[in-house]
Amino acid sequence: MRRAVRDAETLCRMLDLPIPPSASIAAAVGSFPVFAPLEFIARMRPGDPRDPLLLQVLPMSAEQAVVAGDSNDPLAEHAASPVPGLLEKYARRTLIVATGACAVHCRYCFRRHFPYVRSRSEEALDAWLVRLHADPSVDEVVLSGGDPLTLGDERLGNLLDRLDKIPHLRRARLHTRLPIVIPRRVTRRLVARLRSTRLAPIVVVHANHAREIDEPVAASLARLVDAGIPVLNQSVLLRGVNDSAAALEDLCRTLVNARVIPYYLHQLDRVAGARHFETADGVGERLIEELRARLPGYAVPRFVREIPGEPAKRVLA
Ligand code: SF4
Repeated sequence: MRRAVRDAETLCRMLDLPIPPSASIAAAVGSFPVFAPLEFIARMRPGDPRDPLLLQVLPMSAEQAVVAGDSNDPLAEHAASPVPGLLEKYARRTLIVATGACAVHCRYCFRRHFPYVRSRSEEALDAWLVRLHADPSVDEVVLSGGDPLTLGDERLGNLLDRLDKIPHLRRARLHTRLPIVIPRRVTRRLVARLRSTRLAPIVVVHANHAREIDEPVAASLARLVDAGIPVLNQSVLLRGVNDSAAALEDLCRTLVNARVIPYYLHQLDRVAGARHFETADGVGERLIEELRARLPGYAVPRFVREIPGEPAKRVLA
């Protein structure tokens, strides 16, 4: 992560692309800076401004558009947060925003304006544990962020050890993009640590396009699957990136070949600065219909939208 590219000029230069005017970049970046690891950039096509991986990380002037209905907190997560860093959105599951750090900054991220707390502090951790202890109905924690795998093995392991001591917890789910963007993060040591507690680990990765999954990524996913850890993928439907049946078919086939189950295709959350990624009404439903005709049922993700305040994601197709 230390070697990641942190500005649009360098990114464009590396890919033989025209450098946009610095003023327009600065305005688009706002408070969500560029962050793209070299391993991810290496999968982009030089000279192609429409490259589907590049579009996910390069700020666009369209991010400045003020659109009715957009919000800095599109899923009303603030209202679901009883203590900073903890989200209680779904029955029997609690989500921990384990860190604000990510290994890549995705321009469409619904948490791009999230007020991350210094969740590494001992006080924050104590508050989470007290809350979790107090609710015996919760049997699963979802470690999210940010990206929980940006925590070092030791810090992540300590968190898992402390969660392990809460008797009613049974599963620890990790939502992470690191196995995709910096695949060597999935070391044998990390895998062993994920298996070292009583809690059943589940890993949910995030890839949006088949070209994100090259050989090193497939190997990192294999390390998890070979250790008996279920690995699922969630994607976001993104205009210009994966909004065609061919692109989604390719992604789903590549995932199942890597023994990863395509789990969700999300309708874009209306976060301020990302509306240019939104597809027109009905596009997602039609694409899922096409995928059903092309793929085995287990390889077709559910197309979902999250509606603030609803007890579960709404399945659209
Ligand atoms: S890795 Fe996930 S949390 Fe981080 S910016 Fe991308 S979508 Fe958002």
